[in-house]
Amino acid sequence: MKNLVIPSSYLDRDCPICGSIKKTLTGIRKMNMATTKGLYVMQHHDVQCDDCNFHYSTNIPDVAFINDYYKYNTIKHGGIGESVAEIRLSLIEQLVPKALSILEYGAAGGQFVEFLRKAGYIAEGVDVNDDIPKGVYDAICSYYTFEHLIYPNDVLKMLRELLGEKGVFVVEVPDYENYPEESFYFQHLNHFTEKYLRRMLVNNGFENIKVADNPSRGFGFVMYAESVEVI
Ligand SMILES: [Zn+2]
Repeated sequence: MKNLVIPSSYLDRDCPICGSIKKTLTGIRKMNMATTKGLYVMQHHDVQCDDCNFHYSTNIPDVAFINDYYKYNTIKHGGIGESVAEIRLSLIEQLVPKALSILEYGAAGGQFVEFLRKAGYIAEGVDVNDDIPKGVYDAICSYYTFEHLIYPNDVLKMLRELLGEKGVFVVEVPDYENYPEESFYFQHLNHFTEKYLRRMLVNNGFENIKVADNPSRGFGFVMYAESVEVI
């Protein structure tokens, strides 16, 4: 029989969009997630913020458990086919001139970083559990990572600090508005719609926020924005 790995403590979260502590329970997701170490047992409480109506999950395993889970997770999210990479690259090429520097946040196996390098960018990748590099980048991209983050607002703030003035940020996440079932997939903790992702970007110093019409996965949406000029 497979080992059962159960969190020793659960984390109560406040709304990652508006910070409100007031929320209403909408459902409980109990999941046995296969990893190389055994079955990780999670029990998320899906809630809706009473103040801004954002849907997110609380009663989640603590940070150490989640990090451990991703370390032993057999289903890596980052595996991408060539067609997915081509779609992502075509948007980047419209927004970022060649030879500039790009950081991919949530780079997993680094496949897309390789694509970016071949296309002529100075590209680096960092995974969620890695130390954040010290440097300034012309652009940062992140695909299907923000829905997994315990503290998405803090991560966005940190990424904003790695972007120079008028740096380009590209982010793609599942579309909760049109594909709620995909958004509630397994370990997703934040259920974004265009409205809420836009709000989080504005709150963290981004402007000229636009939705691109070519997400790399059918159930997602992709937004891009510029870091506000510091005066
Ligand atoms: Zn809220």
